[in-house]
Amino acid sequence: MEGNVFPSCLKCNVGQLCPLSDYGSQGAAVHYKAWVCSNPTCGFNMKIRNGDIYFNEPIASGASHVPRMR
Ligand SMILES: [Zn+2]
Repeated sequence: MEGNVFPSCLKCNVGQLCPLSDYGSQGAAVHYKAWVCSNPTCGFNMKIRNGDIYFNEPIASGASHVPRMR
């Protein structure tokens, strides 16, 4: 086993792209669903959803999940 070396971010050349996993609706793990730059001032990210790849979507913080006011 080689050490885990993540690819460096090609946008800022400072951070590394960290793989993020998620869980599907059935509770199955979805590995490496998204990659996010570890440099907080860069914020580059890419993710796959339904077979489509999205680059640099705005990062949604947990705060965006507060209930909507109606
Ligand atoms: Zn970066």
